[in-house]
Amino acid sequence: MAKLIITIDGPAGSGKSSTAKLLAAKINASFLDTGAMYRAVTLAAMQKGCDFNDVSQLEKIIDNTNFEFKIKDGVMVVKIAGEDVTEKIRDPQVTGNVRFVAAEGSLRARLVKLQREFAAGVEQIVTEGRDQGTVVFPDANLKIFLTADNTERAKRRAMELSQNGYKVDVTNLQKEIEIRDLQDTSRKVAPLTPAKDAVMIDTTNFTLEQVVEEILKLVKNSVG
Ligand code: C5P
Repeated sequence: MAKLIITIDGPAGSGKSSTAKLLAAKINASFLDTGAMYRAVTLAAMQKGCDFNDVSQLEKIIDNTNFEFKIKDGVMVVKIAGEDVTEKIRDPQVTGNVRFVAAEGSLRARLVKLQREFAAGVEQIVTEGRDQGTVVFPDANLKIFLTADNTERAKRRAMELSQNGYKVDVTNLQKEIEIRDLQDTSRKVAPLTPAKDAVMIDTTNFTLEQVVEEILKLVKNSVG
């Protein structure tokens, strides 16, 4: 297992990915975007025309598909059977279906195993998602839980999506985010919740750099 594990959990648009990436670059750690794994399984299932209500079909997707998650130039590149799907997994249709994968214990267990294997192969890791501090790495050196108010989170997601060529309506996006929050916090397996020992950071009024500076101070305190 990695010698240094920092987990960053939180709801959609709270800044987890950007924070994890910049923090990892500053401390020369690897980073893992676990949402991308849930998204990749969802996209692979859509490509194969799976029935999202049939868990055995989704289990087969994870067991029989060649997924690749690799960091290249600071970006987590995702491939399905050799095809680069790094951008496709952000498609709103994938976002809409990801809950079927996220709610199933047998699917989560498979992805948790992959996440731990990823961490076992590197010296230092910043890993982000919904359950990294609570379930996947309960002994992490530092656990962060990011939040931000709903309007701000919707604005951030809208900016990201429009940069990737999607037309978005911020009001609708905020509603979607709120529905996804509810699905993530209320599911039975690994619901989104801060670990008891997580440090909570509200990012609403902070820049990315300020949030990372704050976490760097915590890293210094927690690992000396
Ligand atoms: O972070 P991102 O928005 O890419 O995550 C997509 C979805 O994947 C989340 O809404 C959540 O349902 C699921 N997810 C999860 N556990 C994680 C990461 C993501 O359930 N560790």
